[in-house]
Amino acid sequence: MAEQITIERAQQLKQKPDENKLGFGQYYTDHMFILEYHADKGWHSGRVVPYQNISLDPAAKVFHYGQTVFEGLKAYRTESGIKLFRPTKNFERLNKSNARLSIPPIDEKLAYEGLIQLLNVDRDWVPSVEGTSLYIRPFIIATEAALGVNPSLSYLFMIIMSPVGAYYAEGVNPVKIHVESHFVRAVAGGVGEAKTAGNYAAGLNAQEEAKEQGYSQVLWLDGVHRKFIEEVGSMNVFFKLNGVVVTPMLNGSILDGITRNSVITLLKHWGVPVEERRVSIDELIEAHHNGTLEEAFGTGTAAVISPIGELSYHGEKYVINGGETGELSAKIYDTITGIQNGKLEDPFGWLVALD
Ligand SMILES: *Cc1c(COP(=O)(O)O)cnc(C)c1O
Repeated sequence: MAEQITIERAQQLKQKPDENKLGFGQYYTDHMFILEYHADKGWHSGRVVPYQNISLDPAAKVFHYGQTVFEGLKAYRTESGIKLFRPTKNFERLNKSNARLSIPPIDEKLAYEGLIQLLNVDRDWVPSVEGTSLYIRPFIIATEAALGVNPSLSYLFMIIMSPVGAYYAEGVNPVKIHVESHFVRAVAGGVGEAKTAGNYAAGLNAQEEAKEQGYSQVLWLDGVHRKFIEEVGSMNVFFKLNGVVVTPMLNGSILDGITRNSVITLLKHWGVPVEERRVSIDELIEAHHNGTLEEAFGTGTAAVISPIGELSYHGEKYVINGGETGELSAKIYDTITGIQNGKLEDPFGWLVALD
């Protein structure tokens, strides 16, 4: 029997922020979704409740051993109602991350139903100004108060939501990226392909160093050879080399991005050659010398497409496409955002209507 989700509405609603000044992850909606797990009971007590603090024992395992996973997806307000972009993929991926972090699998249907109920209650929070959306953050934390190093016997799954602004306030702008040759993000066999907190904590120092030097993100190389391209910050990465679009294959240390998957699908649909394979930094530099490194861009839910205008590696600077957004990058961006906001047809059935 399907478990019942209860709804407790907030007594007082918050004032909504100015949709033109949302930024990213600064405001939270009136409600949140909570689902509990205990080894004896499984996942249970799903409920929509007013957005609130949570109380945890200081010994809760998440604080000590980082047993936690998260997801990120968006809801869009279109002329034909509120739409989610490929949401079932996020819940599938959540369970893949769970498996790697020894967190019990969640009932994907129940978690998704929780999201739908939450969205229903907070539907007025989906912003309508062009480029804005409601960012949705599902996550799981280990809550058992016990310092032994073993999987927690209890967990909380929660969903919080935040109205976010247009990622590029003044149109899509290429970013400068530092190719990191000292620190690494992940290695195959580790947790690089899970969306788990430790990967991000481990990347902060390199990111801060890159920022000090005027770069907005880090391009990670593989942890073994320090040679093969992995990802950019928390985005997957693509290069257009002599007309062929190349992206690192899923090798166990990078994230299986849903935007990455959407971009590959779109390119194939257009008949643009696309290859998932190993790409070395040397290959990119050689292509740059030959004039065949035509475009580069990152992909992720937050920015969708983030064009790369410059790479720095071992003190050398490599400007790509004159530091401008490439034609193909712009076309992909316009197409995916157009599908998301309902202005373009959705030939792949990516959008899911809330109602
Ligand atoms: C979330 C994330 C991505 C992008 O995934 P999307 O599903 O496209 O949002 C890429 N790399 C890392 C490390 C991520 O955390």
